[in-house]
Amino acid sequence: MRNAFDFLGRSIDELEQHPKYSVIHFYSAIELFVKARLLKEHWTLIVAKPDQADKAKFQRGDFQSVGLKEANERLTKVASDGLLDEELKCFDGLRQERNQMVHFAHAAQGDDAVAAKEMDRIVSDHAKGWLYLRRLLAGRWKEHFAAHADTINALDHRMREQTKSLERKFLLLTDDIATAMAAGSHFMACPSCGFESFEVEQPVWIGVGKCLTCGFSSSVMTLECMNKACAQPILLAGGYEWCAECAHEYTPEQVEAVLEEHDLLRATDYKDPEDLAHASCGNCGSYETVVPLENDEWFCTDCFDVEAYIGQCDWCTGYSTHVPEESYALGCSQCEGRVGHEKDD
Ligand SMILES: [Zn+2]
Ligand SMILES: [Zn+2]
Ligand SMILES: [Zn+2]
Ligand SMILES: [Zn+2]
Repeated sequence: MRNAFDFLGRSIDELEQHPKYSVIHFYSAIELFVKARLLKEHWTLIVAKPDQADKAKFQRGDFQSVGLKEANERLTKVASDGLLDEELKCFDGLRQERNQMVHFAHAAQGDDAVAAKEMDRIVSDHAKGWLYLRRLLAGRWKEHFAAHADTINALDHRMREQTKSLERKFLLLTDDIATAMAAGSHFMACPSCGFESFEVEQPVWIGVGKCLTCGFSSSVMTLECMNKACAQPILLAGGYEWCAECAHEYTPEQVEAVLEEHDLLRATDYKDPEDLAHASCGNCGSYETVVPLENDEWFCTDCFDVEAYIGQCDWCTGYSTHVPEESYALGCSQCEGRVGHEKDD
């Protein structure tokens, strides 16, 4: 953990003078945080070949450790606490960028327009990587990293300072934003870069929003904060996020209550067993967090995944999104299928 925080701090320090090392250290930090989470399960899990794990060698640091994808696979299988698709995609993108930095000279150095553009891109990528990382450390993985809450907050502050360098880009968008607003768009503070350039369609809405400044795009829900003392227009990118204005902590149940209050849920007939009001989520694995929207899509109030269909698992008969074709053998997000059942026997 100490190394991970150290690398993150260095990445911030080095951004301007040594962007190449900033990119390398940023990714190293991410990988270390994922491994730190894996280490909380069991030390042998971060060794590339757990069956050959040797504790004495491990303590000396004399071992080959797993990479990001493998670490995530183990976290998912062993602890059911892996990365969401969007998180893995983001972290893996940073890994690829790190690899390119090691092998090629860096375009972000210099004072020309190309360098400025490249620098904006790095700042935007790091803001997004930090958004997902912080969401893990202070959210889903909170219990494992609670002792580091102060360090995480201090780094959050430093990352936000770094992101302010995008202001020049944001100011250039003033006219575009005014035009889009005149055409009916709404803009909110971007969860990643913080500028008021995250475009959404409605003040109470579910959909994919996009930031004109940093390019961050995510499935979000916009709402008026349900804390009556706050009631500010806010945006959530997941069911366990908190209000940026008053820090009210949301839950998937509260997200569902907001949808219900604004008539965004499709009415279901409780007498009809086929007309489901809840299903489980194959994206994040949560139980019964998927609800039908009035536009006939299915929405997960935990990970905010939107899907056109739900399916029934041939093994456990439960309904969820992303049911695999071979569900009898492989199971769904809520069961292990016949293969897992036989393994248990
Ligand atoms: Zn942004
Ligand atoms: Zn609030
Ligand atoms: Zn989900
Ligand atoms: Zn199942």
